[in-house]
This record gives sequence, C-alpha cells and structure tokens, in this order.
Amino acid sequence: MSYKLFIPGPIEVSPAIFAAMSKPMVGHRSKDFVALYQGLQPDLQALFYTRDPVYISTSSSWGVMEGSLRNVVAKGVLNCMNGAFSDKWNDVSKRCGKEAGALQFEWGQPVDPAAVRKELATGKYDAITLIHNETSTGTMSDLAALMAVVREFPDVVSIVDCVSSFSVVPIKKDELGIDVLLTGSQKALALPPGLSLFAVSEKARQRAAKIPARGYYFDFLEFHANHEKGMTPSTPCISLINGLRAKVDEIKKEGAENRYARHAKTNALVHAWMTKHGFKLLPDPAYASKSLSCIANTRNVDLEALNKALKARFACVIDGGYGKLKGKTFRISNMGDETEATIAQLLGNLDILLSEVPKS
Ligand SMILES: *Cc1c(COP(=O)(O)O)cnc(C)c1O
Repeated sequence: MSYKLFIPGPIEVSPAIFAAMSKPMVGHRSKDFVALYQGLQPDLQALFYTRDPVYISTSSSWGVMEGSLRNVVAKGVLNCMNGAFSDKWNDVSKRCGKEAGALQFEWGQPVDPAAVRKELATGKYDAITLIHNETSTGTMSDLAALMAVVREFPDVVSIVDCVSSFSVVPIKKDELGIDVLLTGSQKALALPPGLSLFAVSEKARQRAAKIPARGYYFDFLEFHANHEKGMTPSTPCISLINGLRAKVDEIKKEGAENRYARHAKTNALVHAWMTKHGFKLLPDPAYASKSLSCIANTRNVDLEALNKALKARFACVIDGGYGKLKGKTFRISNMGDETEATIAQLLGNLDILLSEVPKS
C-alpha cells in the first residue's frame, strides 16, 4: 500500500526525483562524477549562503553530527538541548569521549542566548552544538541571536544542525559566522534518506588539523582534500547525488525566496486549521517552526485511531508525537514540495476524521 507522508521526515519524494535517481552509474573517480560534484558546488554554496566548500556525505545527518564532534572538540563541547535530537547530541558527545556540558531547556522552549553566554563564559568549551529547528517539538530557536553570542567567543567552533529548516527559511552561514552547518536529504529537500550536506569554515578545518583520532569516514580534512578534486573520500550514493542535482534545479527554478514564502504559507494554513479546532502549538508561537507544526493534543484525540483512519481512508500519514511527547502532541509537516492545495486537502481529510474519531 502506498501512502503519502506528512511526518517531519522522511517525506514524500516526487516521481521526477526518483526518475533522476535512476540514471546509469558513473565511476566515482570519473570525469562525469567530477562534473556532477563541481556543478553542484556553486548552487549548494548559494543555498548555504557561504563561500566555504559544501561537502556531501553518504550518511544520515547523525553521521555528520557525530563526525563534527570528532573533528572539532578538543577541550569540551556545550550541547544546547531542548528536545529529542538536541538532547541526543549530548549523549553522542559523551559516547565520543568528549567533555560535554548539558545546557538543558524544557521541551518546547527555545535555546536562550543569555544562558549560552553564561556557559561559554566559563571557558570550559571550545565547541558548541545548536539545533536551529528542534523537530521533536517544532521549536525554532533564534539562530541570529544565538550566533551573535557565540561570535563573542572566537575560540569556540559552532556546529549548527539545520536538518529540518534548510531550504525552508534562509540560514546565512557566513553572515552568522557558523563554522559547521549541516543538513540531511530526507527533510525539506524531499529526497530519500541517506545523504547529508555540510559546509565547513576554515577555522573548523584548522581545528580539525590539530585533533588526532578524527577517524576516516567523517574526517573534515579527507573531505576537503577530495573536494579539491571534485570528489568525496569514499564511494558516495551517486543516485542520491543525481536526485540532489534535480532538486537543486527545481529550487533554482522556483527561486529560493519563493520557496521560503511557500513554506510560510503552508505552515500558516496548518496553524489556522489548528486554531479553528481549538488546538494549540506546543512551543510559544514566537518560536514556532516553519517546516512543521507540533500541536498539543489538548482535545485528547485518540491519535493512533486518527492516524489509522487517515492512512486507511485517505492514504496519508501524520506523526503521533516523538519520544516522550507520543500521544501528547501530533506533528504535521509542511516541508518539501507541499503547496497550499495539498496541505488544504490533508487538513480537509483531518476535518472529516476529527468529527468521527473518539477521544482517547
Ligand atoms: C531528522 C533530524 C536529525 C537526524 O537525522 P537522521 O537522518 O536520522 O540522522 C537530526 N536533527 C534534526 C533536527 C532532525 O530533524
């Protein structure tokens, strides 16, 4: 049975992207691959608003999230935590044997810049991890305010996850002074899972050069040396890179600004629907994500029954809450190719089901 995903990743992949991905293989050390890789560079740099190289990793985002720690943390890392993914990053820092500080906020709260300043001022840290858009709670922190604080500490290398906000809102890497900015394929880029993209500053590379035991697969210096030749360190998932080429062409055709505006409109539609039904967002609306809505289940709807009916009758799936928020919230993604029409259709289906599904 095929159905359409409105969960916050992976999301629906269009037939055009699958078609692009089915191109014949080329050798990953061939001129054809180099042309593909180098052709993508200027377009990826434009989307990251950077002059730094944008590397392509065959891994999900966690590969680069873990790899970044191994590349840049010498003294200690401050993990800013306000949801499942950012909390996990603290766990991963410890698993990598790093000194890791936990700056914890309640789920649904944004990361507070003043608290970050206070922690960094202790001098214990030479790196920081930040998640721009905490997907588990639909909370978008104020990245500009946070990076203004981080820039007060020139020895600190910043690692920023924009996995579920990349191409939804502009994230100006160089202007904000972000050292490592990373994203993954299966969120707003609407590609299948398996690829991550990450742009790395010279400062982060210089730090990496001084750190032993960076490993191989995610070594920034290996990525850079291969990048100079238009290649990746190991055999990449070439099919996904062909998909990325097609997606980037679509984004250029639509225009990045139009893409941001489209996401803002579809996100607002979900918010209006939610209000109409007497629901509320989990986060403060001032920090609401633009790529998904994390809605508190204030009406005590049986979310499992709702989703089951949605799938059976309308071949759509939403998310019933992540981790400890399961059943207490539900999440609707408006990432990727969704339009006002497709989101309105989903919301119309939910209207019908809400009048029928019992409370839990
Ligand atoms: C989905 C997601 C991740 C993890 O991505 P994987 O592809 O599972 O590695 C990390 N951070 C955020 C904010 C995410 O939304």
